[in-house]
Amino acid sequence: MATPINTIPQIRDALQATFRSGLTRPIAWRQHQLYQLARLAQNERELICDALQKDLGKPKTEVLMAEVGCIIETAMKSAEQLPEWAKTEYPEVADWQKPWKPTVYKAPRGTVLIFSPWNYPMLLIFQPLIGAIAAGCTAVLKPSELAPAFSQLLDEIMPKYFDPNVYRVVNGAVPETTKLLELQWDYILYTGNDKVARIVARAAAKHLTPLTLDLGGKSPVIIDSAYDIDLAAKRILWGKCKNAGQTCVAADYVLVQRDKQDELIKAFQKHYDSFFPNGALDSPLFGSIVSDLHHKRLTSLLSRTKGEVVLKGRSDAARRRLEPTIVKNVAEGDSLLEEELFGPVLPIVPVDSLKQAVDFVNARPRPVVLYVFSDNESVKQQVVSETQSGGIVFNDTYQQLSVHELPFGGVGESGYGYQVMKYTYDTFTQLRSSIDMPREAEPHLAIRYPPHSEEAVQA
Ligand code: NAD
Repeated sequence: MATPINTIPQIRDALQATFRSGLTRPIAWRQHQLYQLARLAQNERELICDALQKDLGKPKTEVLMAEVGCIIETAMKSAEQLPEWAKTEYPEVADWQKPWKPTVYKAPRGTVLIFSPWNYPMLLIFQPLIGAIAAGCTAVLKPSELAPAFSQLLDEIMPKYFDPNVYRVVNGAVPETTKLLELQWDYILYTGNDKVARIVARAAAKHLTPLTLDLGGKSPVIIDSAYDIDLAAKRILWGKCKNAGQTCVAADYVLVQRDKQDELIKAFQKHYDSFFPNGALDSPLFGSIVSDLHHKRLTSLLSRTKGEVVLKGRSDAARRRLEPTIVKNVAEGDSLLEEELFGPVLPIVPVDSLKQAVDFVNARPRPVVLYVFSDNESVKQQVVSETQSGGIVFNDTYQQLSVHELPFGGVGESGYGYQVMKYTYDTFTQLRSSIDMPREAEPHLAIRYPPHSEEAVQA
């Protein structure tokens, strides 16, 4: 149920008042909240699995591993590491400045606003919340209206574990979001698509609110012709099947040497048959497309491709199901290269050289991740130095998300700012610099006061 719009300013005010009260400051209090979040994930996991099954047909194992398990692990790790992260810092300075006690305090930014999308509804609302809790902020959580079962559940379970004057869910669609964005916040973290990101950035600019934008885009795969094609196909297809391709880091298209294209397609077919012996259409291990609109968008892109559909996925619009579909000989200007696919469709773009692959990537907006399959160190270094992307992954797809110590973020049109764990803590933390000038420093400071003697000016 949508949050009544007229209550939204009061919710923000209540959270601001809590922040000012100092309740969220003590490290031990924040650690307790982080453990509460881990408890929520553990205790409510069955309800969470049911909600994500309703919203996205998500396989239970996928929810338990990629969402529930990940949140328990990162909440617990963050609680353990928080005392270290939050330590006041005393930078090394010149001897004559040491008595001034230069200090960097880690200050919570205040009352923050977190938007999440529908594709990993639990992970993408709680991952930022972990950082906000750790930093000592109060937070409004705005989950996606396109995952209504989870959004409703979130609203119901949060008050069982948290004080609603500290962390509060606001549900709804554009009118509620618009009201939220009219208000002043101390930080906004938005995860979603680049069109809405522009609306959020414009609203943030009005109040000069700092912002993190975690967006998507078309993440390419480059396969070096000397690499084991069978292994590349297996690892690409596995990552692409996660959440039916509705993942911000899903491989969006594959650049492969022209004479290796057919071998790659055979390998995709072989691994598809072994992952889904009866096809993916009715497999409980393969998710659904989130909405009729997105199902239509994908089938319409497929109907307009000039490429050749080689692994033809069956489609069932009534159940919003679409099997993995692979298209070969896709070229510049094709419908499948227009926008982020965000579904189980994988175009293959044949190229004649590594340079052509790199040029193809560089001619497009910088992606959130670039995948490279190669055993050759000089090929890897060439791609690192000649391209830009949020992250770069060699010889696998998707698995980078399990390394929580790495910064995750986009570049250019795939967004800005970093998550997760310590990086999210840093996002919601202000570095507050300080000096404390001792009375005894006065003789050393004499030179700064006017009138300045001729000697001082010469010096
Ligand atoms: P979405 O439609 O659920 O939108 C995300 C949020 O924006 C929601 O909370 C929604 O209420 C809000 N919103 C929608 N319309 C709005 C409007 N007109 N004004 C203000 N707010 C509005 O999700 P989506 O954008 O379709 O999500 C998919 C996108 O997210 C993909 O591009 C994907 O790559 C990206 N993504 C990025 C990451 C990452 O971490 N980089 C993770 C997941 C998804």
